[in-house]
Amino acid sequence: MKTATKIITIDGPAASGKTSVSRMLAQRHGWAWVSTGAFYRGLAYVAKREGVSLEDESALAKLCASNLWEVRMSDQCTLVFLHGHDVTSEIYSEESGAAASSISRFPEVRANLLEAQRACANGVVGLVAEGRDCGTVVFPEADFKIYLTAGSANRAARRAKEEGRDLEETKKAQVLRDLQDSSRQTAPMQVPPDAHVIDSSGLDLNEVVEILEKLTRKELEL
Ligand code: C5P
Repeated sequence: MKTATKIITIDGPAASGKTSVSRMLAQRHGWAWVSTGAFYRGLAYVAKREGVSLEDESALAKLCASNLWEVRMSDQCTLVFLHGHDVTSEIYSEESGAAASSISRFPEVRANLLEAQRACANGVVGLVAEGRDCGTVVFPEADFKIYLTAGSANRAARRAKEEGRDLEETKKAQVLRDLQDSSRQTAPMQVPPDAHVIDSSGLDLNEVVEILEKLTRKELEL
């Protein structure tokens, strides 16, 4: 359903720069921002802490609606709280990304996280939402859709540098995660049919944001 809130979605594979780019784009427009991966990362983390198996779809689906935990938007980072404590620093490793990817294949889990993701657009002038299915499933009526990608060597180098990890190991983990995310049955990662595809290989963060700011200001008459 179309709302008064303007929505830009940015989808794309691991380490394509979606998080940094979408956060900066939201700042430039003065809009809210959400990294929807926090819902999957948060759920996987909470499941581990609460002793719920990452293979138990119905228990995980139940945990989605539990008030033990919540995701909160903020300008710098999409936050996860468990029992009222900020556990965000625990969820952004490649290991948590892999756990998130594993549970994100469950249709019941995806369905139960949708409402909270869509609620991020309530009561704000504009929202930039990034993830794997933001333009296809979470906000199919978005005003502007972007698919941000980059060569796999480029992405692996970026993530290995960020996390101080071995390049080859990072590359392997990413290939596996991209394969899982694009081959799952429900809401696989894919280019939304009406998306603008941007390849960020060889561009720095500011250059990508400049391109997208210009494009979205023009198209959305901002
Ligand atoms: O984007 P991020 O790396 O934080 O996402 C972690 C994992 O969560 C992804 O690999 C993907 O499996 C899942 N995810 C998803 N749909 C989204 C956002 C994330 O399936 N909209």
